[in-house]
Amino acid sequence: MKVLVDWDLCEGHGQCEYAAPDVFTIDDDGDLEVLDDTPGEDQRKAVEQAVRRCPVRALQIED
Ligand code: SF4
Repeated sequence: MKVLVDWDLCEGHGQCEYAAPDVFTIDDDGDLEVLDDTPGEDQRKAVEQAVRRCPVRALQIED
């Protein structure tokens, strides 16, 4: 799976980090950093939750 971020939409809310901390983190400037944009299947549930939680719908999963 590949994680896609629409950087024009992302506002650094950090809900994705809360849902999938191994994949997303918010850096010291408050910006999203993707730690792993091709996470393994063990991360799928967490990443799906991150997609659902993002308030601006900036995340997508591409298989
Ligand atoms: S939850 Fe959405 S808006 Fe917030 S940092 Fe993650 S991708 Fe960006």
